[in-house]
Amino acid sequence: MTSETIRLDAMGSLRRSHLCGEIGNDSVGQEVVLAGWVNRRRDHGGVIFVDLRDRTGIVQLVFKPEVQQAAHERAGLLRNEYVLMVRGVLENRADDAINDKMKSGRVEVNVAELRLLNTATPPPFVIEEESDAEESTRLRHRIHDLRRPPLQRAIEVRHKLARAVRKTLDGLGFLEIETPILTRSSPEGARDFLVPARLQPGSFYALPQSPQIMKQLLMIGGCDRYYQLARCFRDEELRADRQLEFTQVDLEMSFVGVEDVLEVLEEVTQAGCAAAAGVQFERPFRRISYKEAMARYGSDKPDTRITLELCDLTEVFATSEFKAFRSNVDAGGVVKCLHVPDAKALSRGDIDRLEKLVRKELGAKGLGWIRIGDDGEWKSPITKFLSNEEREAITKVTGLSPGSLLFFQADEEGRANAILSRLRVDLGLRLGRTDGREWDVLLVVDFPLFERDAEGQLSYVHQPFVAPLEEDIPLLDSDPEAVRGTHYDVVINGTELGSGSLRNHRSDVQLKILELMGYTRERAIDSFGYLLEALETGAPPHGGFAFGFDRWAMLMTGAESLREVIPFPKTQRGQDLLMRAPGGVEDNQLEDLSIRVRKPKPSA
Ligand code: ASP
Repeated sequence: MTSETIRLDAMGSLRRSHLCGEIGNDSVGQEVVLAGWVNRRRDHGGVIFVDLRDRTGIVQLVFKPEVQQAAHERAGLLRNEYVLMVRGVLENRADDAINDKMKSGRVEVNVAELRLLNTATPPPFVIEEESDAEESTRLRHRIHDLRRPPLQRAIEVRHKLARAVRKTLDGLGFLEIETPILTRSSPEGARDFLVPARLQPGSFYALPQSPQIMKQLLMIGGCDRYYQLARCFRDEELRADRQLEFTQVDLEMSFVGVEDVLEVLEEVTQAGCAAAAGVQFERPFRRISYKEAMARYGSDKPDTRITLELCDLTEVFATSEFKAFRSNVDAGGVVKCLHVPDAKALSRGDIDRLEKLVRKELGAKGLGWIRIGDDGEWKSPITKFLSNEEREAITKVTGLSPGSLLFFQADEEGRANAILSRLRVDLGLRLGRTDGREWDVLLVVDFPLFERDAEGQLSYVHQPFVAPLEEDIPLLDSDPEAVRGTHYDVVINGTELGSGSLRNHRSDVQLKILELMGYTRERAIDSFGYLLEALETGAPPHGGFAFGFDRWAMLMTGAESLREVIPFPKTQRGQDLLMRAPGGVEDNQLEDLSIRVRKPKPSA
C-alpha cells in the first residue's frame, strides 16, 4: 500500500472555507481553504498544477517552489484521486491559462499549505464528464463512477425532486408514513421477491411490488392523506427503464373524486419538474382520452410533440376486394395507417429497412405502403388492388397530398397500433417532425376498466383495485367490457411517469370485479379477504397515484438508462457488481430457514 511510504497529514485546525464550485473571479485576493480529490497533476518545470475536484466543481491549484517549498515538494508526490486540503490565496491566472468553460477558469489558488489526507489506488478509468469505460467496469468500480459529474448531478436531481415532493405534499396536508417491506404478496402483475420466514418454516414474506393495499388500509384507518417515497420490488426482466427495486412517489387521499387527485398530481409534477430542471409546466395539463390517444398515436403514452398521426381505415376496407386487408377486418382486426407528409427523404431502401425492423422486433406480418408522387400518382405494390372509391376514401381520411407516404398495418388492433406508433416515433424523430416544444406533459384519462387477456379472460388494465366510474357500476352486470375505470396516467415526452385511480371503497363492488376477473369467491377471500373485510369496516372513498421516481430523475437529467440516475443499480442480469450481490450464504443460514438448495443445473 502506498500509504506505508507516504506520510499522511491530519486536517488539524484547517477548515474548508468554500466548495470548489463556489470559486469564481469575485473572490480574487481572498485566502481560501479547499478540499477534494486530485483530478489531474501537471508539472511545468518547477511549477506544479493540480486540478482539485469536489462534488461541485474543479479549481486549479498552483504550487510554486518560491512560495512554499515544503508544499511544492509534497505536491510532487500527488497522484490522481489523492485526497487533499489546501490553503492559499486566490489569484488571477495568466492570460494564456484562462479557461472560460469553467466557473473558476480565470483564477487559481496559489498554495501556501498542503495537507495530504489520503492516498488512493490508481483509478480504473479517468474521472471525467464522459467516460469511455465499459458499463460493467463502471458498475464494478461504482465508487469512482460516482465521482463523475453526471452521476453527481443525477444524485442532486433526485434530492431536488424529493425535496419538492415533500414540500408540496406537506403544504397540502399529507403525512409521510412508512409501510412494511416484509409483507404479503400483492397482485401488481409482476413476480414477487420472496423472503423465507424463519419463524414459520415453509412460509414466505413478499417484498412489496408497491404499497398499494397498504395505502388503502391507511385510508380506511383514518389517516386521510398519505405519501411516501416508497421502495418497490418486482422480479422482472431488466431493461434500460426497469430495475428490480425502484422508488415510487406514492400517495393516497380520502374523500376525493378524480379531479381532486389530478389537482394534486399536477401540483406535484409541476413543482418537481421546476425544482429539478427548471421546467415550467402550465396547469391545467392537457388531457386526452385513452381512446383518442390510441386512435391518433397508437399508444397510451404518446409523445405529442411528434406531429405525425395515425388514421383508421378499417371501414374503408370492410367491403374491399383487397383480400389481404379485408380478411383481417372480417377476422375482427383493424387497418390503420401512418401518414408521413412530404416524405421524399425516405428512399425505397429506407422503407425496406423499416419493414425488416417491424418484422423482426415487433412481429409485423409486413409493412404496406403507398407513396404519392409529385404528380399525384400513387406508387405502390398494392395500388392495383384498390378501387377508385377506396382511393377517394383513403385520401379523405388521411388528408394525403403529393409527396405523402402512407404506411399500413392490417392486424389485430393492439399489434397494429404498437407497430405504427413505433414507426411514428422513429420517423418523427428522424425526419424532425416535431412541434419544437422541449417538454410535453399530458394526462391520459378514461381508460376502460378491463381488457381481455390472451386467453379471452377479463383482466385489469391498471390494477385490480381501480374503481369504475360511478355511473358505469350497473354495467358490471350487463356489459363489463364497456365499464370505464377512474384510472389516469401522467405522461412526459412519451414516457409514462405515473398513474393512479380512485379505488373501490365498497366491498361488494371490489368482490364483483375480482369475480369478473375469474376469481372464485373462495379464492378472492383467500387472497384479499383482509382487504375485503377492511372495506366493510367503514372505508371512505379514496384514490391516489404513484410516480416512478427513478424514471422521473431520468427524464429530468436526459439520461438514457435508469442505471445513470441510481447510485447503486443492478445490471441487466440483476447483479450488483460492486457489492457482488446476489451471493451465496452459509449452510447454517439455510438450515435456520429450513431451506435446502437444489444444485443449479450446469449451464449449457
Ligand atoms: N400502486 C399503483 C402502481 O404501482 C399506482 C397507484 O395506482 O397508485 O402502479
